[in-house]
Amino acid sequence: MNIHEYQARDLLRRHDLPVPPQVVASTPEEAANAAREFDTPVVVKAQVHAGGRGKAGGVKLAQSVDDARARAEEILGMQIKGLDVRRVLVAPAVDIAREVYVGITLDRAAARPVLMLCAEGGVDIEEVARLTPEKIVRTHLDPVRGLQPFAARAASFQVFSEGRAALGLARVCLRLAAAFAALDATLVEINPLVVTTAGDILAIDAKINLDDNALTRHPKLESLRDLDAEDARERKARARGLSYIHLDGDVACVVNGAGLAMATMDLIQHYGGSPANFLDIGGSSNPEKVTTALEIIQSDPNVRAILFNIFGGITRCDDVAQGLLTVIETSPPRVPLVVRLIGTNEERAREMLAGAKLETASGMDEVVQKAIAAARSAGEAS
Ligand code: GDP
Ligand code: MN
Repeated sequence: MNIHEYQARDLLRRHDLPVPPQVVASTPEEAANAAREFDTPVVVKAQVHAGGRGKAGGVKLAQSVDDARARAEEILGMQIKGLDVRRVLVAPAVDIAREVYVGITLDRAAARPVLMLCAEGGVDIEEVARLTPEKIVRTHLDPVRGLQPFAARAASFQVFSEGRAALGLARVCLRLAAAFAALDATLVEINPLVVTTAGDILAIDAKINLDDNALTRHPKLESLRDLDAEDARERKARARGLSYIHLDGDVACVVNGAGLAMATMDLIQHYGGSPANFLDIGGSSNPEKVTTALEIIQSDPNVRAILFNIFGGITRCDDVAQGLLTVIETSPPRVPLVVRLIGTNEERAREMLAGAKLETASGMDEVVQKAIAAARSAGEAS
């Protein structure tokens, strides 16, 4: 789960990181009031689930209360990377001497979290990572002990040669590691962490991704979810207990089990097709899930064929067949259905579907090729 900068700053402040105060405003007038409260200059920042706001014009300094009102008005009318800006963050502006990058994420290859530091932080970090990856100092964290103070100091002295700044950075790294663990985050990032002209260290941007699978342990964090910022189909799927991720292709897939779903998508690509989504209807037997899945899938205008690939274990093929029949009867799909039901009660499912308007196949390669062909001919017909 992705959260906004202002929410991430709140969380980091609670973990004793040096974050300046802030007000969130959804109108220019609220932003002006915030500027009055803080004294000017202030910084006005778009709150959207996207990076690169600075380069997109979504981060502006304001020298006066009127200026803050005007900047907020501009930014609140913007779209950044296709996302409407509904709120701005207003915070006292900082005099920056240096900007560095600090982040902790999961290194899946190493099966450990990794601390990343870079002396050249700020808006060009992606360029630095791409062109000169050796400038990023990486330190893996012990999964049990976390970040050790000596390791934090060793890494920090590679970024700052001067003692006060390096020790300040090490302290930030340790607190960030504590926050990463406590929040069950998959990413915590401060870019930039700045040294002010007065020599203080401040976190003036924050990004946190939370592990969806750990949210049951953090009921309060679940409330940080911004439903407006999420894909409507993904939201509906989550509410009904399905895992759905929207993709750009035209062959929709309804599969049970994440592994089979991945294999199905791979095979679609292998045979020259392009999957429209990842969808795992899960392990339970419930015809309603099939109806919901088809509703969600069909609201995607790119979909030209729907592939059902079900391996019946706990999921019973006759239940899936029942769901399919209900849909075909009540709201016939606008695109061809290609179905493979294998496993528990498959004979019964086959009997049920015998008269239905859909294509079946028993092999995995076969069903995928048929679905791609169906999508192609639907494409040519339209
Ligand atoms: P991002 O572009 O979405 O990552 O947004 P940031 O919050 O990181 O802001 C982008 C850039 O704006 C930073 O790297 C800073 O250079 C600049 N910036 C942000 N806040 C301040 C501030 O208070 N004072 C000054 N002088 N610059 C700021
Ligand atoms: Mn940033």
